[in-house]
Amino acid sequence: MLKPFSPWSRLRGLEPMSLCDWPGRISAVLFLGGCDLRCPFCHNSDLAWVPESLPLVSPFDVQSFLETNAAWLDGLVITGGEPTLSADLADWLGELRVRFSLPIKLDSNGMHPDVVERCLRGDVVDLVVVDVKGPVAQYPLLTGGRAASEEAAACLGRMFDLADAYRGRFAFRCTIVPQLSVEDVDQVRRMLPSGFELVTQAYFCPPRKCFTEEFPC
Ligand code: SF4
Repeated sequence: MLKPFSPWSRLRGLEPMSLCDWPGRISAVLFLGGCDLRCPFCHNSDLAWVPESLPLVSPFDVQSFLETNAAWLDGLVITGGEPTLSADLADWLGELRVRFSLPIKLDSNGMHPDVVERCLRGDVVDLVVVDVKGPVAQYPLLTGGRAASEEAAACLGRMFDLADAYRGRFAFRCTIVPQLSVEDVDQVRRMLPSGFELVTQAYFCPPRKCFTEEFPC
């Protein structure tokens, strides 16, 4: 039996096969509902903000799927929402790792470095991809008022230290929303530890309308 770690109670999606969530790998994706930020450009806002509106995926279904299909998968992606809201995330990932022997990629908004550090110390993640929203001065705008600049600076600073300590296990990406200038993106690049490239992704207006006047799409 799988143990009752808290991420199971947040599991709202299982994508059986993805070719884009972990470039170069055929991966399955687990989606954990709930997020502490309110980025106006969020493309998973139902999952992130009203996760209870989506059905839970049962541990039994995940176990059955992975037992049948792990042999031809190259990886397991854990995304959200924000996976690191679960303090026992490392224990959960450790169990998945032992049971199914798959490399694990973790997506994070970077605001919970303690949880990410436990995953790294426990050697239960192979890659952590951190979304850097923009220069820390713009975090209040870019997170819907949920992250102050000082908090963002402190959390990202710890993430960058972890990336320096666990080289090869981190990537940083930034969505180029219309509110970010070329200079802003350059500023984000300069924030990263030496040797890290910033992966940029194009902005697409989310399916619902953005809800702040600053994001008038
Ligand atoms: S951190 Fe990600 S999941 Fe959370 S609100 Fe922002 S874009 Fe959405």
